[in-house]
Amino acid sequence: MNRREFIRIVGGATALAVFPEVVLAGTKLTLGKASSRTPVIWLQGQSCSGDSVSLLNAGDPDIATLLTNHISLHFHQTLSTATGDTAIDILLKTLEQGAKDYVLVMEGSIPQKSDTFCTIGEVQGKPRGVREWVTLLAKNARAVVAVGTCATYGCIPGARLRTGGANPTGATSVWGVLPGVKQINIPGCPAHPDWIIGSLVHLIMNKRLKLDAFGRPLLYYKNTVHDKCEHLQEYKKNVFARAWGDPGCLYKLGCLGIDSNCDIPVRKWLGVNSCTGCGGGCVGCTEPVFPDTGGRGLFPMKKA
Ligand code: SF4
Ligand code: SF4
Repeated sequence: MNRREFIRIVGGATALAVFPEVVLAGTKLTLGKASSRTPVIWLQGQSCSGDSVSLLNAGDPDIATLLTNHISLHFHQTLSTATGDTAIDILLKTLEQGAKDYVLVMEGSIPQKSDTFCTIGEVQGKPRGVREWVTLLAKNARAVVAVGTCATYGCIPGARLRTGGANPTGATSVWGVLPGVKQINIPGCPAHPDWIIGSLVHLIMNKRLKLDAFGRPLLYYKNTVHDKCEHLQEYKKNVFARAWGDPGCLYKLGCLGIDSNCDIPVRKWLGVNSCTGCGGGCVGCTEPVFPDTGGRGLFPMKKA
């Protein structure tokens, strides 16, 4: 099955798109012509939908341009225009027809203790768990992209220390369910829209993204927050804030920027400010251990 047939079968728009000149913030990646839009299937598991909200705040290209010209969002639990059985049929037909040329995005963690903790729609009158959907859909996907720290490493639903070791749903990441599956991890609580869109655009354009040991694109996660922090000079001069609102580096208040990788001090949220720049500090949300930072961090937790 080719991409055109896939689009016809799963009911998405068929318009051919010509990519305009788009320079993604920080990537200098210019999009050329594409013969059709890339199908994207976006599943949401145990999540707050923060990464989807973050995506809606995309600036360059904005979400309307992205969805109109570049990708064909075939399925998204909260953004799809299709609802109910019609929406679930898109997933079922994707599987039945053996479609291949789609990108599977996973947002949210996946419960392992019982599929009933997180289900998407019904198949033959029975709720189907997100674990089963992601397992089936990952098999033929051109690429698997885990977006947000819940999908990449388990994050808050999978927190251990905070819940005294309970993790009541057995929440885990995509790798926890599909060990060894080749995927791109875009962690963050939430992930910055540029990181999501920039990574998707690389996949659309068949450009290679170099990843670090945790599966994160080096393009966005190469440096520590500390490396580029607005307070770095104060840190070097031993000027530390002792209380919130004080001028100075936030290290002594629990900032985890030294141990955390992302480019927010340079890229900024909404192009305006950063976690460290606003005086809030870094909670290390892009790291596999988040939020179980033990006795360190802004919200130190006692070991269970
Ligand atoms: S505020 Fe945090 S990231 Fe910035 S210089 Fe201090 S320790 Fe490093
Ligand atoms: S600066 Fe720290 S808290 Fe902010 S997005 Fe980066 S890793 Fe997360």
